[in-house]
Amino acid sequence: MRITFSIIFLLLILALAACSYIAHHSHRTIGKAVSLLDAALIPPVLGNLLIIGSSRSIIAIVGYYIYFLGMDLVMYSLLTFTVAYCRGSGKGQRFPRFVYILLGVDAVQLLLNPLTGHAFATEAIVVEGTDYYRLVPMAGQFFHRLVDYGIFAGILLVFLVIILHTTRIYMEKYSIILAAMIVFGLWQTFYIFSRSPIDRSMVGFGVFGLLIFYFSLYYRPLRLLDRMLSDIASEMSDALFVFDPSSRCIWVNEQGFALTSVSDRDQEAAGERLVALFDETILGGTDQVVRRVVHTGGETGYYSIESKQVTDDRRRTAGFYLRVRDITQEQRRLKQEMYDATHDRLTGLYTREYLYTQIAETLTSRPSVPHVIIFVDVKNFKVVNDVFGTQFGDYAICSIADWIRKHAKDGHLYGRLGGDTFGICCPKEAFDREMIETELSHFKIRRGTMEHTVLIHLGIYEVAEGDTDVSVMFDRAHLSLSTIRDEYNTHIAYYDNEIRGQVLWDQEISAQLENAIRERQLRPYLQPIADAQGRIVGAEALVRWHHPKHGFLAPYRFIPIFEKNGMIVQVDRYMWRCACEILARWQKEGREQFISVNISPKDFYFLDVVTEIRALVAEYGIEPSRLRIEITETVMMDDAENRMQLLDALRRSGFVVEMDDFGSGFSSLNMLKDMPVDVLKIDMKFLGKSSNEAKSRTIVKNIIHLSNELGILALTEGVETQVQYEVLSEMGCTLFQGYYFAKPMPVQEFEEALHAA
Ligand code: C2E
Ligand code: CA
Ligand code: CA
Repeated sequence: MRITFSIIFLLLILALAACSYIAHHSHRTIGKAVSLLDAALIPPVLGNLLIIGSSRSIIAIVGYYIYFLGMDLVMYSLLTFTVAYCRGSGKGQRFPRFVYILLGVDAVQLLLNPLTGHAFATEAIVVEGTDYYRLVPMAGQFFHRLVDYGIFAGILLVFLVIILHTTRIYMEKYSIILAAMIVFGLWQTFYIFSRSPIDRSMVGFGVFGLLIFYFSLYYRPLRLLDRMLSDIASEMSDALFVFDPSSRCIWVNEQGFALTSVSDRDQEAAGERLVALFDETILGGTDQVVRRVVHTGGETGYYSIESKQVTDDRRRTAGFYLRVRDITQEQRRLKQEMYDATHDRLTGLYTREYLYTQIAETLTSRPSVPHVIIFVDVKNFKVVNDVFGTQFGDYAICSIADWIRKHAKDGHLYGRLGGDTFGICCPKEAFDREMIETELSHFKIRRGTMEHTVLIHLGIYEVAEGDTDVSVMFDRAHLSLSTIRDEYNTHIAYYDNEIRGQVLWDQEISAQLENAIRERQLRPYLQPIADAQGRIVGAEALVRWHHPKHGFLAPYRFIPIFEKNGMIVQVDRYMWRCACEILARWQKEGREQFISVNISPKDFYFLDVVTEIRALVAEYGIEPSRLRIEITETVMMDDAENRMQLLDALRRSGFVVEMDDFGSGFSSLNMLKDMPVDVLKIDMKFLGKSSNEAKSRTIVKNIIHLSNELGILALTEGVETQVQYEVLSEMGCTLFQGYYFAKPMPVQEFEEALHAA
């Protein structure tokens, strides 16, 4: 008996030591408290081992001391443990300090026992032939029991209170400890009163230590987790199906039943319906995510099905689950976003970017088929918008889009490139030029009673081998539009080598302009202007370019290019300066002639023309009236008010302002009365076109009369014959310019001519 218990106690001590060691090294916060408690449980067991294991009184007495002092340590560590263990419960944060003081006092009074003998003594007894030293308790021992039981009761109370207040799920955690403490406490009490020599309740101490160890460090509220996880699974928005290894469905959440329309909570039926809804392969067995599309009653549903194997500890298949997510909305949204990003909002056609990528793909995938790129431009769209309103404008754009749609066949790609431009790419042979030309010749937009003719031009570029950049192809198609001269009768233009050459020419000439001015390759030519008596009263300065490579260049070769890109400003400034230089010289030589210079509408955009010209005449010290300013009526096209003020300012400064090319554009005689000009230049070219010479004559006559009446001098240019000169003179014209007198000539030549006269 004694040996048996000695061995049991020894084993318990080892077990407790091991638990204490492990707990000490645990990463859990409660580890230290558990370690201390398990270590504290060792002394009472060790004490008892000594008590029962020795036949000598002194050892038994030492055993009792270890036992009792150990009990104080147990109580102390139990307090610490309780605080740590119950931390999460919101109760029992801390014990009052006097509890610890009491424990200290008790330990001290026990230690005084060898001197005072007030606490306990031992007596030898014989039980079943074996010697034991039994405890003889005295006052100090009763105090000790009072303290320990008191504290123990306090701890029990703390656990009890927590159990009453905590949720059911956590109750387990506390009640097991409480039950263990009550059982082992009673067991211990029984031994105290039984006065049996062997305290078997020490076994309880050991078991208690192990329980504490397990519950504190390894126990997880599995029931709680189960509940939570199954709640999550039940309530998640995806349908969940759990299968056993034989593919039998064993659990389905609400969404799963809803998806399979199984109402009687029959899992197996739900599993079967699921397979019927999709297919067998979703039970594929491996971890996978698959997509499935389901068509039911005209509705299309998109699903993402994730399957996952579940294995046990030994990696054997324990079953699998399927998580089915309805991604229909997501899919629709994606499709919508995709559509929005690739389609024009107003017309529903492809956007430019998308059209370009589509065309690039088609061209690379079908390189053997000759394709054309078509640039569609609505010519007078701004007028449509201004006159009929943007709503009608939008409608017109949609109508044009519909027209393109109507003619598009399979393999045609088309889209809206921008405001009033569209792009098309189609096989060359599919483009029916005649048919389109006819349709475009009377293209009308109708809405209710409103009807408006829109002018649509198509620029065509034939895709050549090696073409890759779609935007460049469209640029070329666009460029070809500039070759359309008779815009009401021609609607289709092709990009050809001529245009290609023109583009290269534009680029070359523009790049060289600055240098050409610096090197004086640009020179003013002077064309005489005569009066009614045939005397040369002045000249118009006209630019010429003596190009080192291309030779003599007339203005038509470069002026329109610079008018377009704004570089005309540089040309004109240079020409004004040249004119001033010449005038300054003439003034010195005592000549009276004036020089007219041209001012392009672009100059008014980019320059402060008035300041610029005033500064020039001041710099060269010439009389402003010697410098005549030629403007065209296009200058008045926008911001007429402001432009008129500028012309007025020029006139007030003493300059003579001339209206060039009168009759070529939209100007009317009526407009003349408001125009702040001194001279009207009427171009014979505009009149010569007319087949009815008599009519032309009448018009010129009237213009001259009217201008004379308004106090504006009339100048006819383009006078080529003596007859013209005489007739015009009779009509009252006082100034003349034209080949009849002389062509524009170099300055020196002009001066020599003057000299000779
Ligand atoms: P424009 O200002 O109307 O100049 C008159 C044009 O008519 C000149 O052509 C001149 O040579 C031409 N011409 C003169 N008499 C006759 C004639 O009897 N018969 C015919 N058929 N033509 C005649 P040019 O010099 O080739 O200039 C063409 C246009 O280039 C000018 O028309 C003008 O608009 C522009 N231009 C010329 N130099 C300059 C310049 O320095 N600055 C600006 N902005 N434009 C210029
Ligand atoms: Ca002119
Ligand atoms: Ca002119």
